[in-house]
Amino acid sequence: MKLLEINHCNKKFGDNEVLKDISLSVEEGQVVSIIGPSGSGKSTLLRCATLLETMDGGDLIYLGEYTAKADETGKSIYGTKAELQKARQHFGLVFQNFNLFPHYSVLKNITEPPILIGKRPKDEVYAEARELLKKMGLADKEDAYPYQLSGGQQQRVSIARALAMKPKILFFDEPTSALDPELTGEILHVIKELAAEHMTMVIVTHEMSFARDVSDHIIFMDGGVIVEEGEPKELINNPKQERTKAFLSRFQ
Ligand code: ADP
Ligand code: MG
Repeated sequence: MKLLEINHCNKKFGDNEVLKDISLSVEEGQVVSIIGPSGSGKSTLLRCATLLETMDGGDLIYLGEYTAKADETGKSIYGTKAELQKARQHFGLVFQNFNLFPHYSVLKNITEPPILIGKRPKDEVYAEARELLKKMGLADKEDAYPYQLSGGQQQRVSIARALAMKPKILFFDEPTSALDPELTGEILHVIKELAAEHMTMVIVTHEMSFARDVSDHIIFMDGGVIVEEGEPKELINNPKQERTKAFLSRFQ
């Protein structure tokens, strides 16, 4: 089953065409990684997929239901507020810079969204949040504040916070780029564990060997277009396009 489908997505900022006819789909249980140089449009694509930006053209479809649908001229027409709210329940987003509430404890950071937005019973949410913290190796940190944690720990809290909403798809935008190299591994490990549990994920990353190992499909973007995509080992070890080769050679 397709959890997400994006068809012919176009996005401009002023005259700057940032996304040009991007299409992708994500099957349930799939891990799709998006790689590409800085400025190629990866974050904008994630922001369009997660309704933080509006697409100018194309369709956005969650679980077979249109969140935005192209009209006869190709322009994206978005659904009602209620329809967008429903779509939002399907995904979680983990940012590069963690985006935790600094004045909330770890536990409150994780439990607020399911209680306030999800309207779920407090005791159930707290029990689940503690399970998630245990899974993230942070069982002893529930009362800590973000500033008391390392970057890797903060990022694990933000992954727990996203999971607490029980999303069908988890999006990551360069989850390790703000971390010191020695803390990167712990986050990649957590994401690999989620992949082993068949969590559906879309991951923008500069970690090439991680992308090769964890993904079912890799998309290489450059200049707002998908230049090449395919099976991870094939794409990373044996790229066909010159632009892909040039990009990957920087990581060797
Ligand atoms: P990436 O994540 O691949 O580095 P981005 O999606 O952040 O790329 O950016 C793609 C292009 O869109 C860049 O040229 C960037 O300057 C531009 N851009 C991104 N966000 C905005 C914005 N809010 N307003 C104007 N231009 C933007
Ligand atoms: Mg980016």
